[in-house]
Amino acid sequence: MRRLRRTKIVATLGPASSDPAVIAQLFMAGADVFRINMSHTSHDRMRELVAAIRKVERDQARPIGILVDLQGPKLRVGSFANGPVMLEKGAVFSLDTDPAPGDTLRAYLPHPEIFESTQAGHSLLLDDGKIRLKVEAADANRITTRVVVGGKLSDRKGVSLPDTVLPFSALAEKDRSDLEAALDAGIDWVALSFIQRPEDLADARKITRGRAAVMSKIEKPQAVTRLDDILDLSDALMVARGDLGVEMPLEKVPGVQKLMTRMGRRAGKSVVVATQMLESMITSPVPTRAEVSDVATAIFDGADAVMLSAESAAGQYPVEAVATMNRIAEEVENDPTYHMMLAAQHAEPEATGADAIAAAARQIAETLDLPAIVCWTSSGSTGLRVARERTRSPIIAISPKVATGRKLSLVWGIHCIVAEDAHDQDDMVERACRLAFKDGFARAGQRVIIVAGVPLGTPGATNMVRIAFVGSDVAND
Ligand code: PEP
Repeated sequence: MRRLRRTKIVATLGPASSDPAVIAQLFMAGADVFRINMSHTSHDRMRELVAAIRKVERDQARPIGILVDLQGPKLRVGSFANGPVMLEKGAVFSLDTDPAPGDTLRAYLPHPEIFESTQAGHSLLLDDGKIRLKVEAADANRITTRVVVGGKLSDRKGVSLPDTVLPFSALAEKDRSDLEAALDAGIDWVALSFIQRPEDLADARKITRGRAAVMSKIEKPQAVTRLDDILDLSDALMVARGDLGVEMPLEKVPGVQKLMTRMGRRAGKSVVVATQMLESMITSPVPTRAEVSDVATAIFDGADAVMLSAESAAGQYPVEAVATMNRIAEEVENDPTYHMMLAAQHAEPEATGADAIAAAARQIAETLDLPAIVCWTSSGSTGLRVARERTRSPIIAISPKVATGRKLSLVWGIHCIVAEDAHDQDDMVERACRLAFKDGFARAGQRVIIVAGVPLGTPGATNMVRIAFVGSDVAND
């Protein structure tokens, strides 16, 4: 089974898609990576979902990525004595450290650490930004605000402080235990929510110890100002447009998306564009024109993956939503301007052997119009550097490690095959041609490019590029 597109699809699982049969359908429709959102998933449920995905993987003999998304330090107000309260524009409203139920004048904020960091003039947003407050004064026990945009506030609604650097790590206690459980279950990617600064990644790195790749969700303006350093310490970025659009003006989000996609491409690290991509498909079998255009824009920009959230997790048409993304990606990638647009933002190779070989492989494949570039890659890094070239030819990554295959399922352009390492160079060439033929990338009589590090299995030793002929004997197996 091969996909006819380079851009990958991430589908979030939830009540609409927890059934193993639906997960299989989502995969068949085009989902390459499944996301499990720990804000809404118990450990037992997570383990069941992992088992169901691994069954599809076995049945289809294709590596599938599992991304576990940690909730992160989500701030919430306490509860109210007599149900929801109405905050009127111009009124004074306080948040304090008193656990007593709130009213129209005050509410409990059960996060004492943030009082000292908040200053007069900062914005404070409630309920996904629907209510907007301006801080007038703050001390260790109370933040006094004036209501700028009013509205109804009910128990446990979310609190955002877009101007305040919050003094806690991106891993709350719940996140640590979710992360340990997810690593034990054998997941491939972990997404960290509400990253503010590069230091926020240190704890997650210490816990994962290479057992899963780390994706930073960029959803706070503070993180946008430190993107370079955060990217350095991350394996991938997610443009988490939902919270980003709460914490900064909505009209700034498209620019941040373009910036992040460019930075990820330059670094050779994956970028996932997320949230509200096909939002109307939660209740409708067809998307809006604007949504199709939004997905297409992310693909034209060369993002590694586009993501479905509520559409696949809780919507009425999860399989149709994946199939729609699949169709949009196939169409965009066949558009004559697609590769021109990718080439316009081509990242120059860095001064390394791996990049020089990746660039050479792309150029040879283009000059000879070859149907595939085959990389032998143990850790996945050779595959990543070739994908960074945004080649016209599909990339086949052969790895002996199933974990590498699963991780690379998120990466632009890579079709990963898990197979035992080659014994020698002849075996490497022969099997590369055979696998390219078997998975439908090359016909007998065509040539493919092979990229590898010799001796095989030496990490970071990409040093070989070879043009190989797919002989007619491949068809005899
Ligand atoms: C987002 O905010 O866009 C996002 C993906 O995060 P979550 O859905 O976990 O809130």
